[in-house]
Amino acid sequence: MVQERSARGEIDGGRPLRVALPNKGRLSEAALDLFERAGLKAQFRAERALVASLGSHFQAIFVRAQDVAEFVADGAAELGITGSDLVAESGRATVDLLDLGFGRCRLAVAVPDQSEVERSEDLPAGTRIATSFPHLTSSFFEELGVPIQVAPVSGAAEIAPHLGVADAIVDLVSTGSTLRVHRLREVGTILHSSAHLIGNEKSYGDSEVRKRMDGLVASLESVLRAERKRYLMANVLRERLDEVREVLPGISGPTIVDVLDRGTWVAAHAVVDEDRVYETISRLKALGAEGILVTRIERLTP
Ligand code: AMP
Repeated sequence: MVQERSARGEIDGGRPLRVALPNKGRLSEAALDLFERAGLKAQFRAERALVASLGSHFQAIFVRAQDVAEFVADGAAELGITGSDLVAESGRATVDLLDLGFGRCRLAVAVPDQSEVERSEDLPAGTRIATSFPHLTSSFFEELGVPIQVAPVSGAAEIAPHLGVADAIVDLVSTGSTLRVHRLREVGTILHSSAHLIGNEKSYGDSEVRKRMDGLVASLESVLRAERKRYLMANVLRERLDEVREVLPGISGPTIVDVLDRGTWVAAHAVVDEDRVYETISRLKALGAEGILVTRIERLTP
């Protein structure tokens, strides 16, 4: 009890929880869009504001994507969204609450096209590696037992080999086109990354605050889950319902609704995986279904 009160003492129960969000770049817009779809549209008091309200329970603070993990670990924000690559590089302890699925990329080792190296472990001792991920790079090569030299850069690592200041690079790769343009070739992967929702450890240890953090997780999760699903409705012949049930699994089987005719038709409703919609429609048509309607789902909470 005493412990709970002292832990909570720092967070006034009523004040909105702070969420540190990237202030620019590819994760920034995607994060705000996700909050909006969860019914938490960012409201800015002024243009270029550093804070915004996200409904009445959360407040966004905008910081560099690289700094989000620091803000959350230090307790300046209870929650944060940033790339899992940056969380790992920060070395700071936070609670990993949810993989948001966007901003997917890999942290890769790349060498100039003409190099004979095929794998990271074949890099000669003393290789100079330009990267803005010095910690992850050092520990990766330490584990491989390859002594390399890190040349820290704050961005644009891909030009370092051409300038003669490095022999290889470690950088984020998404489509691979940046590497190709700079005549670089991947020889290894340090980690795979995507945007994650993270939380402050101490806040998450407080049962009241944790409830509010979990509420946000559930809400964002319902939006992400719904993204990959469609709601499908079709009029089907009552006499073919058994076959229809096999085509439409739904979450707990399709919902069957009476149609106001003489009982020949019923309406079947079900939630279907996005990538199974085409196949499901074809199979329903083969069973004589009519009036097939497919809609997006805003949220899905099982
Ligand atoms: P690409 O040409 O698509 O492979 O993208 C590579 C460039 O985009 C590199 O400069 C990376 O630093 C940057 N990049 C790719 N994916 C991400 C990401 N998820 N987060 C931040 N930067 C990224």
